[in-house]
Amino acid sequence: MRLVLVGPPGAGKGTQAQFIAEHSGVPKISTGDIFRANVSEGTPLGVQAKTFMDRGDLVPDDVTIEMVRNRLGEADAVRGFLLDGFPRTVPQAETLDDILREVAETKLDVVLELVVDDDEVIRRLSGRRTCRTCNHIWHVDFDPPAVEGVCDIDGGELYQREDDTSETVANRLEVYAESTAPLVAFYAERGLLVGIDATGPVDDITQRAIDALRPFEKGQVDKSPTDRGPTDAGPADKGASEPGRTAS
Ligand SMILES: [Zn+2]
Repeated sequence: MRLVLVGPPGAGKGTQAQFIAEHSGVPKISTGDIFRANVSEGTPLGVQAKTFMDRGDLVPDDVTIEMVRNRLGEADAVRGFLLDGFPRTVPQAETLDDILREVAETKLDVVLELVVDDDEVIRRLSGRRTCRTCNHIWHVDFDPPAVEGVCDIDGGELYQREDDTSETVANRLEVYAESTAPLVAFYAERGLLVGIDATGPVDDITQRAIDALRPFEKGQVDKSPTDRGPTDAGPADKGASEPGRTAS
C-alpha cells in the first residue's frame, strides 16, 4: 500500500503513522526522519538542508524533493510506504506522482486525512507543558503531573514551549489550512482521499484508520501477489553492498 497521511498539527499524526505503518507492514517515511538521516550521514543534500534548518528557515522544495526521491527509491519502499510530511502542497503532490512513476512505475493508492477541528487542536497543543530537565511532555487536562508545574519524573520545572502557545498554534493552523485545503481537494478530485475522525482514544483512531484503509490494502494484495520490483538487477544482491548513499 502506498499511502500519504495528512492532518493538522496536533492531530497525532506521528503516533498514528507508526501504528498504521506497523499494521500494514510498510515503512513509515517522514520528512523529519529523512532530514535527520541525511544530516547525520552528511550527504550533500543533508549539508544543504542543515544550513537552512540552522537559520530556522524552511528547507527549500527542491532539496526536500530530492531527499524524498532518494528515500522512495530505497529497497524497502518499493512495495509500499506511509508518507508523512510530504506532500504539503499541490505542486509537491504532482511531483510525488512523477517520482512514483520514475522510481517504481507506480501510483499512490490512498491519502488518509486525520480530521480534527481547530478548537480541539488548540486545546490539545496549548495545554502541553514540557519539562526543562527531561523534556517529557505533560498536558494540563489529559496527562497532568501530580503537582501543577512540576515534573513527576524528576521534579523539573514545566514550561510552555513557544510552539504550543495558543497564538502560535492558531497561526500554524492558518498556514496549514491555506496550503492543505487545496491539497486535500486535489486528492479528493482523484478519488484518493479518505477522512477519519481523529478525536477520542488513540486506539479508537487507529482502528478507524485501519478500517478505512482495508479496501485499499485488499486491492494491493490482489494486484501484486508476487514481487513486482525493478527487474534490472539480480534480486538477491540488491542493496546488500551499499556503504553509503549516493546522492546524485
Ligand atoms: Zn522531567
